[in-house]
Amino acid sequence: MVSPPPLVMLNAKRPLWKLMILWRRFSNQEISNADRAGWIYVFHEAGSSGGIFKVGRTNNLERRIHEWKADCPGQLRTWLGAFWTPFAHRTEYLIHLALEAQCTCRPRFICDCGTTHLEKFTFIGDDPRTVFEELITPVIVEVVALVSLTRSRLDTDAAALFQQHGN
Ligand SMILES: [Zn+2]
Repeated sequence: MVSPPPLVMLNAKRPLWKLMILWRRFSNQEISNADRAGWIYVFHEAGSSGGIFKVGRTNNLERRIHEWKADCPGQLRTWLGAFWTPFAHRTEYLIHLALEAQCTCRPRFICDCGTTHLEKFTFIGDDPRTVFEELITPVIVEVVALVSLTRSRLDTDAAALFQQHGN
């Protein structure tokens, strides 16, 4: 098996119906006792056609920023914001589902640093800060609120999250 050359970019975005099934399943499932508080962070990497956004999770933001700098240098990276949540695993997972539903691409490729980074997204829009403020932030704020308010049962109407920007 020969690995693809670095610039081959696969779109790993799943169909909406699959994402909605996963959303229903996991938003209604009790949050694990192992789930911990943490940060959901967002950065943007410059590149052709609007660049790529990464949404990740950490319990130590400063350390994570340094790790990205050390492990994946050479990217023009802009840190856009971070959001505190009491249940970081669940929050991150649901945010990834909602963003995947709204993205134009969930790229999968071997980065210059040798890693295939997961859960990166591209969206329609030229200005990263506008995309962050108008699309990504509302999704994060809404999911953090849902997860915070209803720990054991999130009987949420996912429709709003999924319909916001169509598909
Ligand atoms: Zn990398």
